Amino acid sequence: MRKYVIMGVQGSGKGTQSELLAADLDLVHISVGDIFRWNVTNHTKMGAQVHRLMAAGELVGDDLAESVVQRRLAEHDWNFGFIIDGFPRNARQAEFFLESYDIDGVIHLDLPDSEVRRRVFGRRLCVNCGMDYNLLADSPAVPGRCDSCGGELVTREDDTAEALAVRLRGYHEKTNPVLDLFRRKEYVITVDARPAKDIVQQEIRTRLGLPPVKPSGGAGER
Ligand code: ADP
Ligand code: ZN
Repeated sequence: MRKYVIMGVQGSGKGTQSELLAADLDLVHISVGDIFRWNVTNHTKMGAQVHRLMAAGELVGDDLAESVVQRRLAEHDWNFGFIIDGFPRNARQAEFFLESYDIDGVIHLDLPDSEVRRRVFGRRLCVNCGMDYNLLADSPAVPGRCDSCGGELVTREDDTAEALAVRLRGYHEKTNPVLDLFRRKEYVITVDARPAKDIVQQEIRTRLGLPPVKPSGGAGER
């Protein structure tokens, strides 16, 4: 059983790296942002509650974020473990998390703010399956269409200059202290997030002492 937290600024590739790791190690990837976005897209009551805050780049309330995580982990569909992305994001959430779950490692994807803007503004999301694209690195075969399901690719509502500035500030003010807290417990490996995604993935595995990316098939496919 392996339990990981993945952290990094907006656009650092948390979603991409989590998916690669989860697919290969049979981990469940839990993205708190994806859960909120799903609720917004599907017009649930929770979606209505969080929509405005998210679009503005603000964090939703801790009580709600914590209950989302608690409920998701209570499904216990993670026989081989999980990798959680987007949580904890501040000191209170970190305290809640450490009280409830013991973790094996924290993957910190390190990316300078200058690179964040470039990546975030090139990001597109499939409305249908949620797959993430970056027009700079992996543009789809048919422009504007998802490679895996044909769904329409759109920009995330919070990938505007204004909302990004709020999110980045929030990250540096609230989430960086969480990283310091985890560092004191010696959980953290910091990986340079600038190289191509396969290189970053390989580095994560090396640093965590995990088997290397398979040369063909699955997450190792090029
Ligand atoms: P990013 O890390 O790129 O800002 P995410 O997709 O992880 O984006 O999250 C999108 C939004 O969802 C956040 O800006 C915030 O409004 C909300 N959110 C996600 N995780 C949390 C959390 N742990 N606590 C509060 N709000 C959250
Ligand atoms: Zn799709």
